[in-house]
Amino acid sequence: MTAQDRLETIFADVVRRNPGEAEFHQAVREVLDSVVPALTRHPEYADAKIIERICEPERQIIFRVPWEDDRGEVHINRGFRVEFNSALGPYKGGLRFHPSVYLGIVKFLGFEQLFKNALTGMPIGGGKGGSDFDPKGRSNREVMRFCQSFMTELYRHIGEYTDVPAGDIGVGGREIGYLFGQYKRITNRYESGVLTGKGLSYGGAQVRREATGYGTVFFAEEMLRAAGDSFDGKRVVVSGSGNVAIYAIEKVRQLGGTVVACSDSSGYVRDDKGIDLDLLKELKEIRRARIDAYAAQRPHASFVAGRTVWEVPCQVALPCATQNEIGAAEAAALIRGGCTIVAEGANMPTRPDAVRAFVEAGVRFAPGKAANAGGVAASALEMQQNASRDSWTFAHSEQRLREIMTDIHARCHATAQEYGMPGNYVAGANIDGFRRVAEAMLAHGLI
Ligand code: NAP
Repeated sequence: MTAQDRLETIFADVVRRNPGEAEFHQAVREVLDSVVPALTRHPEYADAKIIERICEPERQIIFRVPWEDDRGEVHINRGFRVEFNSALGPYKGGLRFHPSVYLGIVKFLGFEQLFKNALTGMPIGGGKGGSDFDPKGRSNREVMRFCQSFMTELYRHIGEYTDVPAGDIGVGGREIGYLFGQYKRITNRYESGVLTGKGLSYGGAQVRREATGYGTVFFAEEMLRAAGDSFDGKRVVVSGSGNVAIYAIEKVRQLGGTVVACSDSSGYVRDDKGIDLDLLKELKEIRRARIDAYAAQRPHASFVAGRTVWEVPCQVALPCATQNEIGAAEAAALIRGGCTIVAEGANMPTRPDAVRAFVEAGVRFAPGKAANAGGVAASALEMQQNASRDSWTFAHSEQRLREIMTDIHARCHATAQEYGMPGNYVAGANIDGFRRVAEAMLAHGLI
């Protein structure tokens, strides 16, 4: 049986064993398509059924999360933690609170996380979790009660040497604070390393908040550098206006580019003078407003309801909102608008047909597991600081982040070259991440 035939059989099995989990199937397909050359070169991986084992999470936890709103009405949500693979270290990956969350989303994110964490070169395995709870429109006290109920079950599964969650969509500093407080209360342990993304006043690390956005831009900067170019004078479009988007916008601006549009799920704002970051932060981080409020306060900016931000012409596109936000139509609009670089700040925001369109049009494309690895890398740095009871300066932390992103870029680039696919960041990232996990799994024996 050829490596390709073998992978088709494995994929059919994944689909059969995980029915209705389209996002998980999509994430597995992308990795399997990339690793054929590595399997051909390493028959020992096939003999030990490494791929089959990687596709099956080590543990999947689903639990009930009851909580009471401010009017006394009882709500029941579902909580998840998928501990995907611990070959390289304790499970590590964020928690997502969003109504779309179900097992298939958590598994796709956990699967991606495994390879991303491997790419950082740091000792962290892969996991992910979350809930179908929607924090939007909820009071602080409601969010606190939800987080306390969620942690009242989750605490027994996590720990600094076991599983270390962090934030993701809908889980920011406020939620991490409530989750940490409840963990501390239940366990009677000040175990700083059990969660990352903590506030600076209680064990958080400098640059963790900024890391995913900054890291994505550092990665894009390396892509530009590899082509003898830079961010200077570039028109950039960023989707979303959450944690990743805001700090991607900040770093693009610092590197001389202009972000002319960003969005949320209601539509996008276009501001050809460059997005006013102070205003955006105030609206999104403090007032938790919708994005149209931006245009209401900047007379020359416009708000476009219900349409995709990718119709705004740009040279660099940074999708930082959510999965599958760029399909064939959006890719075509970006190519028409003169885009030459796409770096994913979000997880799997680009559909496979859009990736193919980019490759055919010569657009350089970096997958999230490489380009947005800065967030988890900074989390690993936070764990390092917690373990040594130390805290680094902003400048030192940012410098470490930059080195890590430069290194990930170099390895993706070199691995793609080594396997005869120069410039193919998808292949480079998947093969390099996969090899690291596979080698550790072989070393641990059949477990
Ligand atoms: P966040 O702070 O909750 O922000 C998400 C943003 O995306 C919000 O502005 C949201 O708008 C917008 N959005 C969601 N669905 C959308 C849609 N269908 N169309 C347009 N905009 C939409 O979350 P985040 O932490 O920035 O995460 C964003 C992405 O980055 C996710 O894919 C996440 O998995 C990935 N990521 C995050 C980290 C991290 O450290 N936070 C690390 C690695 C990867 P609304 O407010 O209207 O929903």
